[in-house]
Amino acid sequence: MRNRPWKLVPVIAPFLAAAILLHLPLGHPLWPGARYTHEDRHSAVLRGLHFLGEVARNPRSFAANGADLIWCFYSTSEAAADPEVRRIARGMALEGAQRWRRQNPHVPEKASADEVADFAYGGYTADSLGFRDTGFREEVRRAAECFRPEDFLLFDPVRESVPTDLPARCKRCGSNNPRGCRTCRTCGTALRMLNPYDILLDALLDTYFGDLYGVRLGAHFADVARWIPALRPYPGQHGAGNASFYSVAYAITHIVYTFNGYSRYRLRKEWFPEEYRFLESHFRRNLAARDVETTGEFMDTLRSFGLSESDGLIREGIEFLLDRQNADGSWGDPGERDIYVRYHTTWTAIDGLMDYAWQGEQVSFPDAFQRIRRP
Ligand SMILES: [Zn+2]
Repeated sequence: MRNRPWKLVPVIAPFLAAAILLHLPLGHPLWPGARYTHEDRHSAVLRGLHFLGEVARNPRSFAANGADLIWCFYSTSEAAADPEVRRIARGMALEGAQRWRRQNPHVPEKASADEVADFAYGGYTADSLGFRDTGFREEVRRAAECFRPEDFLLFDPVRESVPTDLPARCKRCGSNNPRGCRTCRTCGTALRMLNPYDILLDALLDTYFGDLYGVRLGAHFADVARWIPALRPYPGQHGAGNASFYSVAYAITHIVYTFNGYSRYRLRKEWFPEEYRFLESHFRRNLAARDVETTGEFMDTLRSFGLSESDGLIREGIEFLLDRQNADGSWGDPGERDIYVRYHTTWTAIDGLMDYAWQGEQVSFPDAFQRIRRP
């Protein structure tokens, strides 16, 4: 038989094409001199998403964190610029929302205020993904009416500012003490006060999702947001102490998330000058502390203010995050036993790395923004 090498062309061509496709991207650094390429970042984000998908597939993790996980997938699918990231996150969101609806057909009679808020969170997300259930929303609305603003938010933002005199549970005997108590009425131990920035953060989130869902969880978002100026100027890392630094930092990142629709809109720096300055001036502190979670949140919030890979801070953050991904695709301590911590750190690292499909400059609650806007 004669040797006819051209007959091999159709056999070899796909391998050649694959080799070219696989090989070429290796030559695309994220910026001149970067230690990583666009493809490194792309695959890191996909491996992170894959880890989150595995967490959601675990029945126990999903039962405890289902609403949060489907919001994670849904918000990622809406905010990401990369079509493959959007598609994969969307698939996970749809699968999760369907499962969440199946597992939560009704609001139980004895649901606590926190549980009702979680039902609003999951119900809103499932509705947004096309698994609409108006009967369920009506159940959430009726259940929410049985509670006072303090049950959801720890204070009534219609009447007062974020409180500074709410004692935490007694660390010695576990008792709850009335507002204003400085020592435990049961055992006499000095009581720690709840951090007002923590209270603000939780209240912003409850009312943000409540308003989007059309259910009043103690108050409206604008009622809570109007107290933001009362908590400015923000104490910095030296003024606040370490524990308090995180409370301030997370309050600020969530002010940004609630006003930028979870990374849908760009915000102008002059709209939130104090928040922007805090994020920028404390960014490197997170790198020095090898803190993935806080770095991730500072990166997507700073990107919302217009920073990009052409800025030194974002470049340092990207290399830091890519350096620290675990073999299983997650970020953070792989020995951590709390699955919430494991997936939340991974989620924030993905958010810190990925590119966004910004939908212009805008705020998600213009009325609330008008009330806190600088003159
Ligand atoms: Zn006590």
